[in-house]
Amino acid sequence: MKIVAVDPFYLKMPNITTDADGTQDTLVVRVQTDEGIEGWGECDASPLVSLATYCCPMSHGNIINIRQSLVGEVLRGSDDILRLHDKVLRNALDIQQIDHAYSGTDIALWDIVGQKLKQPVYQLLEDQFGSSSQGIDYPKIPYASVLFGDTPEATFQIATRLKSQGFQAAKFGWGPMGKFDRKFDIELVQSAREGMGESAQIMIDAGVAWKSDYKTAYDRAEAFSQYTPTWLEEPLAPEAIGAYQALSSLNPPIPIAAGEGCATFRMAEDLILNGKVDYVQIDVGRVSGITTAAKIRQLAEKEGIQYVNHTFKSHLSLAASLHVFATNEDFNLLEYPADGSELSQKLTTEKLAVGTDGQVRLTEKPGIGVNIDLHTIRDFLVSVKIELNGTTIFDHSVL
Ligand SMILES: [Mg+2]
Repeated sequence: MKIVAVDPFYLKMPNITTDADGTQDTLVVRVQTDEGIEGWGECDASPLVSLATYCCPMSHGNIINIRQSLVGEVLRGSDDILRLHDKVLRNALDIQQIDHAYSGTDIALWDIVGQKLKQPVYQLLEDQFGSSSQGIDYPKIPYASVLFGDTPEATFQIATRLKSQGFQAAKFGWGPMGKFDRKFDIELVQSAREGMGESAQIMIDAGVAWKSDYKTAYDRAEAFSQYTPTWLEEPLAPEAIGAYQALSSLNPPIPIAAGEGCATFRMAEDLILNGKVDYVQIDVGRVSGITTAAKIRQLAEKEGIQYVNHTFKSHLSLAASLHVFATNEDFNLLEYPADGSELSQKLTTEKLAVGTDGQVRLTEKPGIGVNIDLHTIRDFLVSVKIELNGTTIFDHSVL
């Protein structure tokens, strides 16, 4: 089987706001083969910056675009996915955006190989990276992932709605957290707890509010602990590894989570080994795809910390994320986008539904196991045409 086309599509909602809502636009990638099998993936990154890495003219041997690296390549199995991952990243050594941009393609390649070999991706990953599950994919507890309301009262209303929808766990993040005073921060957490009820799990995402100020992060962890959140997420900036280490050395009374800002294996390794986080949260749409995410999952297993997905996109990204850690029974939490845009809600023709037992499972379908809704691609597609001196190098005005 050979790769014959690699096509990124820029999709967006009509109006984009400054809310920390990554579902307002997206970049999805379609990879086609000469056997008629095609795969899809999604990137969680600036779509047009990422799109450039698919078509930018070669500058020299370290700046070669993704299409040029892949079209014509052979794709027989997961060994080839790893080989191509190395090739693309090597060819784009001096393209800063490459890890984000390649994520969608790497996901699409796993989808294709799974379809070709008639296996779900988690089984391919087990063969490639090993685990002790004997091929079992374990169900996960979905935690609804939402933004804080603008006020404690609005947050209480959101929490009450999630509880009535049956969610037994929910994460509240960003919005006003860390932007006003200590009392307001505590009231936000209190309202989330009261709305979800005592038996639910709640997670608090501080949205990098305190940058490298680990003392304030510790103070908030201590103040929030009376509401027993499962974790405090990203109290500090992604690169503030020393501050994460200092925070950890103070033994905060609730676990610390971070990792969605990781674009490479090394960034995650630094956060795990030196930042000493308790949960590492990896986004397959940012970290150059399933291939790198699976390596980080292995490291988390070795270091005895919990791997969790970071997903604030469509159910294509959600399914891709879940394959990475489906075979680990202890990694039992799944970030579950609950409030996404119409675009993200409609991007796939089916969703990973919450079962009657309140848990989420993968299907046994080959590949990633969810299908793209081509109507949605057409409805939200932004026409992009790039010309250089009158010669078109990229034209996606239609699907
Ligand atoms: Mg977060």
